Amino acid sequence: MRVKFWGSAVAAAGLFLFLGHGGQAQEKQTAAPKKIAVRAGRLIDGKGDSPIANALILIEGEQIVSVTPGGAAPAGVEMIDLSKATVLPGFVDTHTHLLLNGDITSEDYDVQLLKQSIPYRAILSARNARIALEHGFTTMRDLETEGAMYADVDIKTAIANGEVPGPRMQVATRAMTPTGMYPLLGYSWELQVPKGVQYVDGVDGARKAVREQVMYGADWIKYYSDRRYHFEADGVLHSMVNFTEEEAKAIVEETHRLGKKVAAHAIGSDGIAAALRADVDSIEHGEGLTDALIEEIARKGVYWVPTITVGAYVAPGRGGNWTKMVDLEKAAFQKALKKNVKIALGTDAGGFDWKEINQAKEFAYYVDYGMTPMQAIRSGTVVPAELLGWSDKMGTVASGRWADLVAVTGDPLKDITELQRVKFVMKAGAVYKNEIH
Ligand SMILES: [Zn+2]
Repeated sequence: MRVKFWGSAVAAAGLFLFLGHGGQAQEKQTAAPKKIAVRAGRLIDGKGDSPIANALILIEGEQIVSVTPGGAAPAGVEMIDLSKATVLPGFVDTHTHLLLNGDITSEDYDVQLLKQSIPYRAILSARNARIALEHGFTTMRDLETEGAMYADVDIKTAIANGEVPGPRMQVATRAMTPTGMYPLLGYSWELQVPKGVQYVDGVDGARKAVREQVMYGADWIKYYSDRRYHFEADGVLHSMVNFTEEEAKAIVEETHRLGKKVAAHAIGSDGIAAALRADVDSIEHGEGLTDALIEEIARKGVYWVPTITVGAYVAPGRGGNWTKMVDLEKAAFQKALKKNVKIALGTDAGGFDWKEINQAKEFAYYVDYGMTPMQAIRSGTVVPAELLGWSDKMGTVASGRWADLVAVTGDPLKDITELQRVKFVMKAGAVYKNEIH
């Protein structure tokens, strides 16, 4: 009901409204689902190879009930005229950190964990969620809170309840490394400083940590497969693997046993290989993908989430190997594309400041790296829907799917940067932004 309240409030006012103390208005909503017709000048539905001209999308409540070329809207239905725009499925970012606001240097990171309370960070995360939604991201997979414990479960819940605007979420809560392998590090042993992850040791410890995180609301388990990335004489980006084989396997097995999935941070070739051996569901970053590993990731059907935006953003500030890693990832991306690796769009937003960079920039990198605009659009809609297990609910504009729509006034198939200028956003039938008149 609250979602519908949002919808009508926003439609009436044409802008975001926050519920004040007078939130009782939502009780007055009737049970009948609201019917909306959207006229799309061009519809990129996520399925077809070319756009559908003059499409009519009929929506009832949270769902799309029909999509037809042409056709007339039934009488008495609210009409949204996007006839001068291109309509697409809502975007999905499969790698974000709502609880983080940029960490080019370790100092940026430490300050957030040491000087900001978790409640303060949670307030900023609500702001970040609104920014993401306004940029067209109707769904996100948030891959760990970076020391903010289970606050991602709270932001997910607040969004789902319609208390704050934001994308629909799947969350990973705390992430895991063995003891001592993730910041905050380097402080006096006399001080108890917060940790960016949950330290997890041993097979029993791994299973217990998975159970604990799932108990508190984790949809995904994330672990750090590696650290200390470095080039060796073979020209390959190597790394130090964090968990023993037994520990990594225990994390994955236990997570799968509980019906959840595993995302592994893996940058160097050794970390990627270890994560693939442990049977994770997605490889995050993956700069060190070698030809053999690309074959392996394709063969296993594991998803790759490249997060190019963050790499390009932090490289100048971090220097060293980071610039070289951006070039390396570009080459890996081009090879992976030829091998039909399942590439799901992910940006690592939060690793860069939500206020500075629009996540949709990632689409442009993918086109720059060799995808067609249509492939890039699919990597941010259809492919992530598969990764999240929601193919039957979202990712395409089709009957039975959630009514998650975005619209742009230019042609994204000619200029992919159009996706950075989203003018209309609907999530589950509720309009959150409409600048098209
Ligand atoms: Zn990340």
